[in-house]
Amino acid sequence: MKRARKYEGNAVGIDLGTTYSCVAVWQEQHCRMEIIHNDQGNKTTPSYVAFTQNQRFIGDAAKNQAAANPTNTVFDAKRLIGRKYSDPVIKNDLLMWPFKVTAGADDKPMIVVTYKDQEKHFSAEEISSMVLTKMRDIAEAYLESPVRNAVITVPAYFNGSQRKATIDAGIIAGLNVMRIINEPTAAAIAYGLDKRSNCASERNIFVFDLGGGTFDVSLLTIKGKVFEVKATAGNTHLSGEDFDNRLVSYFVNEFERKNKVDISGDARALRRLRTACEKAKRTLSYAVTATIKLDAFYNGIDFYLPITRARFEELNMDLFRECLETAGRCLSDAKMDKAGVHDVVLVGGSSRIPKVQELLQEFFEGKELCKSINPDEAVAYGAAVKAALLSGGTESSAPNLVLQDVTPLSLGKATIEDVMSVVIPRNTTIPVKKSATFYTVYDNQSSVLEEIYEGERTRASDNNLLGHYTLSGIPPAPKGHPVSICFDLDADGILCVTSEEKTTGNKNQITITNDKGRLWQEEIERLIEEAERYKAEDEKFLRKANAILALDDYVYDMEKALIRSKLCPEDKKKLNSAIDKSRTLLEDGNKEKKEIHVFVENLNEAKRIFEPIKAKTG
Ligand code: AMP
Repeated sequence: MKRARKYEGNAVGIDLGTTYSCVAVWQEQHCRMEIIHNDQGNKTTPSYVAFTQNQRFIGDAAKNQAAANPTNTVFDAKRLIGRKYSDPVIKNDLLMWPFKVTAGADDKPMIVVTYKDQEKHFSAEEISSMVLTKMRDIAEAYLESPVRNAVITVPAYFNGSQRKATIDAGIIAGLNVMRIINEPTAAAIAYGLDKRSNCASERNIFVFDLGGGTFDVSLLTIKGKVFEVKATAGNTHLSGEDFDNRLVSYFVNEFERKNKVDISGDARALRRLRTACEKAKRTLSYAVTATIKLDAFYNGIDFYLPITRARFEELNMDLFRECLETAGRCLSDAKMDKAGVHDVVLVGGSSRIPKVQELLQEFFEGKELCKSINPDEAVAYGAAVKAALLSGGTESSAPNLVLQDVTPLSLGKATIEDVMSVVIPRNTTIPVKKSATFYTVYDNQSSVLEEIYEGERTRASDNNLLGHYTLSGIPPAPKGHPVSICFDLDADGILCVTSEEKTTGNKNQITITNDKGRLWQEEIERLIEEAERYKAEDEKFLRKANAILALDDYVYDMEKALIRSKLCPEDKKKLNSAIDKSRTLLEDGNKEKKEIHVFVENLNEAKRIFEPIKAKTG
């Protein structure tokens, strides 16, 4: 019997990157994968959102105007998503970003911009939802039909709240997030399917994914249609942007040394420098020197400074080495030695850096690295295969596969003396459900406070607190009375923990939902409404711009007719007055405040006058 379809409509795979995003779809009728081009003809779209006096831009349009509008151009939302403002990991980012971030309710980081002359505060989920909306629009334009369902990828090393926040971003964007999958796993799907014919026997694949914002490694075993992740490790704050930051700091110092001026407080200059540094970094992947050239950079001084590949490598060597340490950790977690790895697959734009490749090859004792898959597209590719399988089931023409992923961090609870008691060890295959029994610590203890943590430190409070709740109503008993706890981790990596006192059946539980519970549900509904309003505003802006352009074009035609055609005095007079009226409207300083219908009506009126005249003159 064929499995019933659970999802209606198209399903896409979205690689929601820190710096760039990519969307792909499995074309059932053609049995092939399509990486979808955006409206600029690019296969990747900058994960940028910009706000101006009149308009919101997403993607290339936002990035292209970044230097002119640095404080209202937001990027890197993925670095903030699911984190607290006080998280030490984002302290350095705050210094590097030209846009403002403040602490909102519950210590949630809020991005502050000026939009239509008003101060607006956006969460990272909202900004990411705008990028997701853009990716959905790109897919809809290509497929010429609505897209509702998506598999979204996240770094393997994302914790529970970062995953949940990513799902929330999808919901705000109006998407049904069918599944969250890990980026290196998605890349391995792309690689594994490519090499499927050679995969009859077991193959161990090491995926090295160094992107724009995060770094992940995963070791997978592919056998037939089963893709089993053995271990994963990573760092959500190590990658291309950190290399850019090192370059920016270097050039800020060099510029100060040469010109005796400090540009570190000038957002516009820093934005221009950052863009140039990213370009230079890419150049250094194929050339041994690059030069940063920025005319009239600061106070009329030009910026003209070279950098060699060797200097770039020296500036980043500690970061490169950190990547290898992480690779080593992943192998030892998988209990596999380097010789057991059959293929080392490079994913993510930053894996193109020659020194990174050289060090990795050395690490794997000279093994050739696999560069056959496109590092920018592989993740979206894998996500789209998974989306096709989830939505089409056995009816899908997508290559069938079984995915077995793991949890990147250990999950457990705090016990007496702040000891971390692990219930699900890291690198356990998910979904997984594990129970454990703990005991009361004093006589007649009537309640327990359950604090749920993730992380590898032995002291619970050194790990990441996911949430807490109290189980009360424990009957009077000497200490050592059992209370059971069950950790249920679903395929998206979302955790539900339940505690139970068996004699009374008393239960309490928590699902790790960004620490917000029910309130967050209401907040999400508000954000969905807001997202729809912003989308409607964008569309309205476009419609108005088109109405203004149409009127402008028409007036131009009327003006040409007035000069070139032989018109009777009466028609001339009528045309002149129509042109005057339209020009007055087009040149009105308050044009922004006028509604679309004003321009449409003006155009219709002009047409009523000019069309009969045109018909007469031919
Ligand atoms: P991804 O997140 O995979 O799209 O990777 C984007 C990151 O890769 C950005 O930081 C880019 O600057 C970086 N990148 C792309 N191409 C190159 C290259 N040829 N050399 C060095 N870094 C690159």
